[in-house]
Amino acid sequence: MTDAPTSTAPILETLGQYWGYDELRPQQHEAIEAALAGRDSLVVLPTGGGKSLCYQLPAALCEGTSIVVSPLIALMKDQIDGLNLVNFPAAALHGALADGEAEEIERRALVGEYRLLYVAPERLLTGRFLRLLDRLDVRSISVDEAHCISHWGHDFRPEYRRVAELRQRFPKVAFHAYTATATQRVREDIAQQLQLRDPAVLIGDFDRPNLVYRIIPRVNLLDQVAEVLDRHKSEAAIIYCISRKNTEDLAERLGTRGIKAEAYHAGLSSQERRRIQDDFAQERLDVVTATVAFGMGIDRSDVRCVIHTALPKSLEAYQQETGRAGRDGLDAECVLFQSGSDATRWARLISESALDAPDPEAASAPQLALLDDIKAYARQMRCRHRALVEHFGQSYESDDCNACDVCLKELLEVPDSTLIAQKIVSCVARLEQRFGAAHVAGVLKGSSTQRIRQYEHERLTTYGLLRNESKDRLLSFMDQLVDADLLTRTGGDYPVLALTERSVGLLRSEESVALYAAKVPEKTRSSSSSRRTGQSEADWEGVDHALFQKLRDLRRSIAQENNVPAYVVFGDAALRDMARRKPMTPNEMLAVKGVGPQKLQAFGEVFLDCVVNHRD
Ligand code: ADP
Repeated sequence: MTDAPTSTAPILETLGQYWGYDELRPQQHEAIEAALAGRDSLVVLPTGGGKSLCYQLPAALCEGTSIVVSPLIALMKDQIDGLNLVNFPAAALHGALADGEAEEIERRALVGEYRLLYVAPERLLTGRFLRLLDRLDVRSISVDEAHCISHWGHDFRPEYRRVAELRQRFPKVAFHAYTATATQRVREDIAQQLQLRDPAVLIGDFDRPNLVYRIIPRVNLLDQVAEVLDRHKSEAAIIYCISRKNTEDLAERLGTRGIKAEAYHAGLSSQERRRIQDDFAQERLDVVTATVAFGMGIDRSDVRCVIHTALPKSLEAYQQETGRAGRDGLDAECVLFQSGSDATRWARLISESALDAPDPEAASAPQLALLDDIKAYARQMRCRHRALVEHFGQSYESDDCNACDVCLKELLEVPDSTLIAQKIVSCVARLEQRFGAAHVAGVLKGSSTQRIRQYEHERLTTYGLLRNESKDRLLSFMDQLVDADLLTRTGGDYPVLALTERSVGLLRSEESVALYAAKVPEKTRSSSSSRRTGQSEADWEGVDHALFQKLRDLRRSIAQENNVPAYVVFGDAALRDMARRKPMTPNEMLAVKGVGPQKLQAFGEVFLDCVVNHRD
């Protein structure tokens, strides 16, 4: 099929009308043109890249109803809230509607009231929904979070597989797949599963230059997390933990430090989860400690900080979770606190969850391969931006991202690394490769534990050889030695440290090694306004901070009144632009990025009042 020529003017006009933006981002234009031409497409844009616009905007310009399959109710609801605020005719059909609401939506859909109709995947193939579709003028079917269809993705959902059945039923309708996470393998899988026909394959730039990545050995988690949050006072932060219990413990302990945080995980009731999501979206709550259950539906665009308290299970998950920071394009920080035991824990969880599969080994293999990738990422001391981008098959042009711990030279190369490594390795040898890292650290530190006394390990020549190092640092060094293949872990639930071929070379001084420790970032360098040169200063240039705060307060109260997430009223980027330009008239207000005629009509007056009445 050849693409019908589309004029840019109506696209830009619609963009300004509903979203208040004056230009499209890379790939959006091509994606919108493909949709307008009725051509299948596969659109891969990083989180925050602006995928929703790619299916929302064409729907505004086309007759008929465009269907969007979306995996999470919260995600759909927030998008509908945002669209309805600007009078965009859209609705969602999912399991959380009140009695009679679904019937009402169906009735309105049948009279052609909606340009966009969102639907949850489990509802998609019900007889009732199919009958509705048969009676609608279906323009296109868009599949959001399309990686959920692939085994090779990190978030496979069996019900997604069945979306492809619609292809047979509606052979003439164009299909569009959108995702943020797609390695080549996942991409091919999506195209194949959805039977895309000659799709326009549009792949955006995976780099998120506004994100600063840091990977730091976990030493004293509470202190470390509190220190990061201190750099982001009154700003939104998400802290990912592996277990439900971790989320609750951390939230409670942060509370004792005067930091209000709430725990979010799948064990909470759905009302409680919704309340926390709403509080976060409406800015009544800024810090959430969460399992990965929190996120997909969270579109708050001003998240300034994402912390991982342990290694995530894949780079795909890491990219998606960190991607929730700085969706507004403004600077944000992503800190990963990790320890070597994290990967062991994941490997065990992955293997356990595959036990019921017909072939457990085959079932766990893809997940274990993904785990290996992120282990390598975390241990390599190379530019984090480059490593991430290269993982997703793209090249990275710059030599210095100026936005990761490696390029910002925040890691400390420990003096005498090789000597320290030799002492550790020889201790493992003296212990006959029969003890775990904690015991080895105890011996090196010269501790007097019951086990050490029981085995008379205080008599070893390596006892107390590194007594000046902290136990946590010793554990971190051992992790690094394992990562560098100078030690290995063997055994199941209680792994012991053992030597490798390379250990011998190290002991003979034929090998050298660099060990790193986290250098605590200096406060001044890391404060949000001066963390990096360039970008962050540009973000704030000319912005009246006091006015920005007032506008944020106003946004919060409007969001609460309308019971919608704050970011759908205006994003931080729009508020900063307002506090920079200080518009005095409706026309001047329209020049603010993110303010279009619809938003002007809905909230223009109150925000104008706020600016006009502000005295600096
Ligand atoms: P994704 O679904 O790819 O994660 P979203 O669709 O949620 O990203 O968009 C992220 C943010 O970027 C939103 O606040 C959205 O309004 C904004 N955005 C999208 N397109 C543009 C654009 N062309 N210009 C400015 N901001 C945009």
